[in-house]
Amino acid sequence: MRNIYDLTVEELEEYFLSIGEKKFKAIQVYSWLYDKRVDSFDQMTDMKKTVIEKLKEDFSISKLKPVKIEKDELVNKYLFELSDGLYVESVLMLHDYGTSICISSQVGCNMGCKFCESGRLKKQRDLTSAEMLLQILAVEEDIKTRISHVVIMGIGEPFDNYERVTNFIKIINHPKGLSIGSRHITVSTSGIVPKILEFADFPYQVNLAISLHAPNDQLREQIMPIAKKYKLKELMDAIKTYYNKTNRRITFEYIMLDNVNDSLENARELCELLKGLNCYVNLIPYNETENIQYKRSKNNRILEFYDIIKKNNIVVTIRREFGSNISAACGQLRSKKENLWKHFI
Ligand code: SAH
Ligand code: SF4
Repeated sequence: MRNIYDLTVEELEEYFLSIGEKKFKAIQVYSWLYDKRVDSFDQMTDMKKTVIEKLKEDFSISKLKPVKIEKDELVNKYLFELSDGLYVESVLMLHDYGTSICISSQVGCNMGCKFCESGRLKKQRDLTSAEMLLQILAVEEDIKTRISHVVIMGIGEPFDNYERVTNFIKIINHPKGLSIGSRHITVSTSGIVPKILEFADFPYQVNLAISLHAPNDQLREQIMPIAKKYKLKELMDAIKTYYNKTNRRITFEYIMLDNVNDSLENARELCELLKGLNCYVNLIPYNETENIQYKRSKNNRILEFYDIIKKNNIVVTIRREFGSNISAACGQLRSKKENLWKHFI
């Protein structure tokens, strides 16, 4: 049965029309769910009994509860068990400008990037829009504060679950939903070209981040299998089309792997690749994990790499290393839990 949290306002309006009710009831339901945060249909006291019974017949109304929370000074990490026993995680980061949550969009990931825990664990299934949204509700409930920024950068490849991810964005952006401004929402993709082109026509001003991680095809193919399907030329062309249609600055993520993609020649190649683009480069010091052999680049190398990019007049930052002592990188907590879990079965 579909969870009520899975529906956009438009879908809920259509539903009410289909059962012979007025469509404004959709907004009433939204306000019970996202403003008053009820747990059951019975609490929707301005609804007729017959409507409540019908809603109960057609939808479930269940939330997510974290099974494990790890807290650090600036980071909280949440592990959720889904209704079918699979696990996903979310990371909450406290910034000076507000709070941002990194949510998962799939259980595991089929893109198979060599440095990533989620890729190592393979996709088990897509998350529903409700399961993405309920990560936010659960974390807000824990911290008793509204979350201001959402990044879809946890476990999974959001563009491999495009419909549900875009529906999720519609729900959280809606003024009667979570009312999170589209400029405060970021989707990160490993570079699925047809979906980047489709996203260029998605009528919400959401930020797009591209996990680039290498400045040439040969190196990119070595660490990201998706690069064999979509060559850099094709990817960069899609990004230019996206930029021309949306006028939105693109973020490029570049993970710093010791002796793999961090030579100064790589930095110069990267500048050449990005020349003339309105973009922003985020260098991510690799968060090492026990199951994967890659190492994090040395600090001085990260700084030299940064300097080259900066001297080329490209906006560049080095990501603050959030929560590496609580396994905050993509998929790490889940992977620990699964190992633990296997021991008990
Ligand atoms: N699938 C999407 C979004 C999820 S991954 C994507 O690849 O963009 C989000 C980001 O986390 C990616 O840039 C990814 O390369 C990065 N990442 C994965 N494992 C990491 C690790 N161990 N340390 C640091 N960043 C990591
Ligand atoms: Fe998937 Fe992103 Fe991890 Fe690559 S980095 S395996 S695309 S989650």
